[in-house]
Amino acid sequence: MDWPFIVIVSTALIATFALVSVWQRAIERENTSRNLAAIKDAHSRGKHRAIAQHPIVQTTLCVGCGTCVEVCPEEEVLGLVNGIAEVINGSRCVGHAKCAQCCPMEAMTVGLGDIALRPDIPILAENLETSLPGVYISGELGGIALIKHAINHGVRAIDEIALKFEKESVPRERDVFDVLIVGAGPAGLSASLRAIEKKLTYVTITKDDIGGTIRKYPRRKLTLVQTVEIPLYGRLPAGEYEKERLLTLWEKLIETFKVRVKTKTELLAVARQGAHYEVKTSAGELRCRCIVLAMGRRGSPRKLGVPGEELDKVLYQLFDAATYKNLRILIVGGGDSAIEAATALANQSGNTVTIVYRKGEFFRLKSRNEQRIKEYASSGRVKVLFNTEVERVDPQSVDVRPSQGGGERLRLPNDFVFVFAGGELPFPLLKGMGIRFGGDSPGKARATAQII
Ligand SMILES: Cc1cc2nc3c(=O)[nH]c(=O)nc-3n(C[C@H](O)[C@H](O)[C@H](O)COP(=O)(O)OP(=O)(O)OC[C@H]3O[C@@H](n4cnc5c(N)ncnc54)[C@H](O)[C@@H]3O)c2cc1C
Repeated sequence: MDWPFIVIVSTALIATFALVSVWQRAIERENTSRNLAAIKDAHSRGKHRAIAQHPIVQTTLCVGCGTCVEVCPEEEVLGLVNGIAEVINGSRCVGHAKCAQCCPMEAMTVGLGDIALRPDIPILAENLETSLPGVYISGELGGIALIKHAINHGVRAIDEIALKFEKESVPRERDVFDVLIVGAGPAGLSASLRAIEKKLTYVTITKDDIGGTIRKYPRRKLTLVQTVEIPLYGRLPAGEYEKERLLTLWEKLIETFKVRVKTKTELLAVARQGAHYEVKTSAGELRCRCIVLAMGRRGSPRKLGVPGEELDKVLYQLFDAATYKNLRILIVGGGDSAIEAATALANQSGNTVTIVYRKGEFFRLKSRNEQRIKEYASSGRVKVLFNTEVERVDPQSVDVRPSQGGGERLRLPNDFVFVFAGGELPFPLLKGMGIRFGGDSPGKARATAQII
């Protein structure tokens, strides 16, 4: 090969390399400025803060390959800023943890971060025990969402209790259960099955029916479940399950293994009495050595507190939009559930759907809902009244008024009101029992205990 040819080829290669790297840097700069604007926007709307678990980036390990951004099934949870992954919309993280699984540098974990900054997160030890000895927390109540985690936590809490009994070898007392399990969602039910496996005496209570939050999903909702082992059943393979199929599975397991679940029984108070706990429930009192709290984070639906709210036409859940047709419907609230219900109802023939929301714009929406409600509002399929709240509900109408004072009152003809105003969380009950939460303790509060 002659020298002039080598020089020409080398120069061409160097020039191409330089051009590509200039081009890559331009893209990186553009991404950075777009993501910085998105972070600013998320902060202004309160969307940057995570509700449950969220990605935590170790910036010293991150090489900015962007794998985490690509694999996240939710939109714009993460983005690259100056070549490093950053959380943009923490509130959109639902805990798939694909970012952590796929990061080639192991620079990503998914957890609750510094719990000292989270007054909504109970402080738990590695073994899921709260600050009250013998009282454990499982599932979403601890701040980690998803069915798979709830099932795993339920099993783990019971294993820890069995281990504790083994170590302490305290004799059983008459009429004192080894363990009370509060909640019959995936965490409480898997704890119950594990308690049977471990031959513990137990009782499970739930303030409504079995199934927990799953029972409250809309009819035939497709539920994504990652592979998980259910005690006494075996492996539930990863996949999409209709809500009804999951509920049937739980019901079958309850029947087959004669799981003791007392439905419509609410936990009201807990007090330590020597070596056991005295527990007050809405169906009477009982005694137990340990407690697994698997109460989720949904609480009871928050009420509007207005005249007429007790009418049958005021509902707090939408199970099946297809059963509502040719009706005048009011949706109260501005979260994802409100938008999903409004658009689903607007798709049924003959419905007139109005949303009233006390704020001036929607906050913390999933991007697909944000997009959808914009389209439905601009095409007139859903009417949106911002800065508005319900004043009273009557059989044929609803009165609404401006939420900020001043402005116009309206009377809207109405057949049904769906209220999506969030839940009354179970935190006061837990705090009343003496369980400590993140904000209660100075300094860093055992954040590692909560990493998935
Ligand atoms: C709309 C929606 C869609 C979702 N989709 C998915 C999905 O596709 N895949 C996925 O993995 N996760 C999904 N999740 C999350 C998942 O449902 C929850 O993470 C999971 O149900 C948590 O289980 P849990 O057992 O901790 O609590 P929960 O299922 O909330 O159960 C809590 C239980 O505690 C009971 N309880 C509460 N307070 C008391 C009390 N004082 N006394 C007695 N009982 C009490 C309740 O009645 C209930 O039985 C979704 C959640 C929602 C809201």
